[in-house]
Amino acid sequence: MTLDKTLTVNGRAVAFDGERNLLEVIRKAKIDLPTFCYHSDLSIYGACRMCMVEVEGRGLAAACSTPPEAGMRVRTHTDEVREIRKISVELLLANHQQACPTCVKADACQLRDLGRKLGVTEVRFKPTARTMPVDRSTVSLVRDPNKCILCGDCVRMCSEIQGVGAIDFAHRGARACVTPAFGKDLAAVECVLCGQCAAVCPTGAIAPRSETEEVWRALHDPRKTVVAQIAPAVRVALGECFGLEAGALSTGQIAAALRALGFRKVFDTCFAADLTVMEEVHEFLTRRKEGRRLPQFTSCCPAWVKFAEQYYPELLPNLSTCRSPQQMFGAMAKETLPAEYRVAREDLVVVSIMPCTAKKFEARRAEFDPSVARTSAERWLSGR
Ligand code: SF4
Ligand code: SF4
Repeated sequence: MTLDKTLTVNGRAVAFDGERNLLEVIRKAKIDLPTFCYHSDLSIYGACRMCMVEVEGRGLAAACSTPPEAGMRVRTHTDEVREIRKISVELLLANHQQACPTCVKADACQLRDLGRKLGVTEVRFKPTARTMPVDRSTVSLVRDPNKCILCGDCVRMCSEIQGVGAIDFAHRGARACVTPAFGKDLAAVECVLCGQCAAVCPTGAIAPRSETEEVWRALHDPRKTVVAQIAPAVRVALGECFGLEAGALSTGQIAAALRALGFRKVFDTCFAADLTVMEEVHEFLTRRKEGRRLPQFTSCCPAWVKFAEQYYPELLPNLSTCRSPQQMFGAMAKETLPAEYRVAREDLVVVSIMPCTAKKFEARRAEFDPSVARTSAERWLSGR
């Protein structure tokens, strides 16, 4: 530890080296400093003011936009900064539709969590929110501007990381909001339905569209036979939600739970992923042999496919013609399982449990209508 790379946080010396701002140094010291608008992958916005700290000799500063300097003496939880955080949360709540019991985010809402941690038991300001229409135009996401706290995370994620820019801030003052251009619905703009905006949204203002009710209805319909496919990422992510160690597999628990709910069988999408890889290799070798367009890009990610269609149509011939694992599995299940279970094709319901909102959109693409030509794997399976 060198002297010129050390500052003091709450009386403790903390070394810094390469951290972009005070916030990163403070978090490195394992001190919990809240933020709504700070993500290390995104540009620094400095709007939510949750990370205010007191810097001796300088006064209050937003830790996210203050570079660390040797010798700084920082205090993170003085009476003044705690009161500022509390007032900021109250102001956000005054402008926020407080529908916690019915909100999809519910227990995972950062605004609710922070309010509780800061001891906010009442909002001392008059409600200022006006009611805006909820955008349910896409099959993947629901956008409820009434729950937006204007942190801008979704806006920066969409433009800086995804390179799309489908949503942005509009209007000023009390009318400020995040919206697609000209107040259009999300389905009417170039959103690729990747869901990354929902992944960073601290509240329920942008959330994946739930299809749980449709699944329950199918499970309770005596004519239907319901099977599930589980994507590889889900078995780890779900385990973490239930408190398992990061990286721990919960495949067995998920399969048992789905069977208990009434699923006839639970399949692993990894099997279909192997088929996709074999198909892709076959396509690659054929392209190479026949001198056709290379390089060959994957078409497994529906958000990437939509992105290429919208922005790089000249690359479409480079995209593999193979179906994604989800679609490969769905087609094969419909081809083989009705005979095995002695049910009509339309009475076999395939539920995909996937980590990506664009998969909802992919499943509904016209190209995957059963009347459209099938892949060679499906022809092989059906013996035609
Ligand atoms: S789903 Fe993706 S493309 Fe659409 S608004 Fe969100 S981040 Fe942007
Ligand atoms: S929609 Fe969510 S992420 Fe976007 S500005 Fe509002 S609260 Fe922040």
